[in-house]
Amino acid sequence: MTRTMGPAMTMESPDFTKADIAKGEALFKGACTFVKGVVRIEDLPKDGTPEIAFAGRSNVGKSSLINALTGRTSLARVSVTPGRTRELNFFTLGPSPLSGEDGLPKAGREGDKRGRALYLVDMPGYGYARASKAAIKDWTRLIGDYLKGRRELKRVFLLIDARHGIKPNDEVTMKLLDEAAVSYQVVLTKADKPKAAELEAVQAKVASALAKHPAAYPEVLTTSARMGSGIKELRAAVATLAP
Ligand code: GDP
Repeated sequence: MTRTMGPAMTMESPDFTKADIAKGEALFKGACTFVKGVVRIEDLPKDGTPEIAFAGRSNVGKSSLINALTGRTSLARVSVTPGRTRELNFFTLGPSPLSGEDGLPKAGREGDKRGRALYLVDMPGYGYARASKAAIKDWTRLIGDYLKGRRELKRVFLLIDARHGIKPNDEVTMKLLDEAAVSYQVVLTKADKPKAAELEAVQAKVASALAKHPAAYPEVLTTSARMGSGIKELRAAVATLAP
């Protein structure tokens, strides 16, 4: 994979081929349906479908990014409704090779592998300022249990606010990911907010911090759900993980 110096906003993003971008577009064109919210590890889907997950501090722009990726305006809203905030929300992504010619899923139900190439998992946000100690403990236990030994989980996309860079509670999550040996990739969000020079400084700082994390993918993706930038590249990155 070659890297070129593009505009500042994508400078740290890997270069994708036209074929990668097309695969990403095709993957996200399929139906994306909510399957279930998981609170107890026993309730994780057991059908073997590979999955990718999105994690980040609350307010990092996770819902906006997932909605931009899937081209839907309300997909991730379920994750912010009260009571669902501590769930791992599973959505289907893309038609599997077994789905209909028209690309529409024949079925999206758990237990039926047709109609999805991947599960997209919306992980509960962390770092909510007013979260109780009990809520933090619940989050840490659920996430720790999920990350340990979940063979289906191909990569976690860890969302980091492009204005702020890596915060202490992001470090906690990165440590959990390193310990569980789950591959993860940082995605900067809200890249339209900082000035170009500030963005470059955050990109460089994040990239050097990642060098100290064994499970981190070295390439950082830079996105703005508001401007639509970096979305195609992120779709392509997800699609590289689809069977
Ligand atoms: P979540 O809590 O991580 O799901 O974050 P949301 O998607 O709800 O976004 C939190 C806030 O950031 C909202 O006010 C959004 O409008 C704002 N936001 C999200 N994405 C962007 C973006 O790309 N650019 C800018 N400027 N604001 C954004």
